[in-house]
Amino acid sequence: MITPILPTYNRAPLSFVKGEGSWLIEADGRRFLDLAAGIAVNVLGHAHPALVAALTAQAGQLWHTSNLYHIPGQQELADRLVAATFADTVFFTNSGTEACELAVKMARRHFHDAGMPERTEIIAFEGSFHGRSAAGIAAAGSEKMTKGFGPLLPGFTHLPWGDHAALTGAITENTAAILIEPIQGEGGIRPMSDQDMKDLRALCDEHGILLILDEVQCGMGRTGRLFAHEWAGVEPDIMMVAKGIGGGFPLGAVLAREDAASAMVAGTHGSTYGGNPLACAVGNAVMQIVADPEFLDGVCVRAGQMRQKLEGLIASHPDIFTEVRGSGLMLGLKCKAPNMDVINAAYGQELCIVPAADNVVRLLPPLNITQDEITEAITRLDRAADTLSSSG
Ligand SMILES: *Cc1c(COP(=O)(O)O)cnc(C)c1O
Repeated sequence: MITPILPTYNRAPLSFVKGEGSWLIEADGRRFLDLAAGIAVNVLGHAHPALVAALTAQAGQLWHTSNLYHIPGQQELADRLVAATFADTVFFTNSGTEACELAVKMARRHFHDAGMPERTEIIAFEGSFHGRSAAGIAAAGSEKMTKGFGPLLPGFTHLPWGDHAALTGAITENTAAILIEPIQGEGGIRPMSDQDMKDLRALCDEHGILLILDEVQCGMGRTGRLFAHEWAGVEPDIMMVAKGIGGGFPLGAVLAREDAASAMVAGTHGSTYGGNPLACAVGNAVMQIVADPEFLDGVCVRAGQMRQKLEGLIASHPDIFTEVRGSGLMLGLKCKAPNMDVINAAYGQELCIVPAADNVVRLLPPLNITQDEITEAITRLDRAADTLSSSG
């Protein structure tokens, strides 16, 4: 018999009832160190006082009005994002996949209004993840996400990850945009090199193509810069953001340059909830902390500590792990043992980590995790690996 909750997830037998910083408290009282952070969402951990204060203050004032009216908190958050990034304009969504929908619409409408309506094709990449909406699954293109859901939204081409020659060859007179994650998250923490990012930007410029970056997972301070593309010194035309921007409150955004966005005039897009007062109150509180250069420097320091300890962990468990990859606090351990065995062993040590494709486990801690908590996490991972070695 089907369950009251549509059974689309294989859930761990854990029910968390409270969160404190980097810790989750299970219904039975056990304290788990949280290196999942709601899949890279809780960038400031759980129950951060500034976020709780912002949300509760707004909750006592006004929850929702719709976008029929001006929303002061939304204006403030858009101003912050425009000031801190390449973007000239922002549209707020509730999730990453809705950001994908708009990114695709925006790119197509741009060329439509520019007198090039034939330019509708979007080049995307194998192993990518852009969410579960119609555009999101068409963009990712994998059998796992699209099987049985056809007819899929047309106009997507999929190329192998990291093959620049294939990319150059795939561009046609119908290409509108290239859509890519600077670091594939679900795909197994697979980063693009800075040089590849520069080459990609140059290729887009050469052919007049829009560059859409999906920074839903790697953005919002995760790599130690506000957005991952900043490391390569290039800028996208359109960027998808979600996850970390709400710190745990559902919020997403599409950021864009004026030229890319200018066809999106009144009536072309909308959202009942997008950028509502509650979401933007939290988003502003997150931005205030995370966009601070000192905070981002701290992320780089903690990332260096974590990476060094992970290298040590791999050296002492070559039978379980083979390499560490990623950037900042978006780290992946490539496993020799099945990744789900590693994750279950970690649960046994009261540690939450996340699976990814390519037999990788992801470590996506709160960006304000302490040095002691990093040490504790590695100790727990080490013990989890011990239990696998002795049972294997
Ligand atoms: C999670 C994710 C999405 C989808 O976000 P939702 O909020 O789940 O719709 C899109 N792109 C990337 C890179 C993601 O990690």
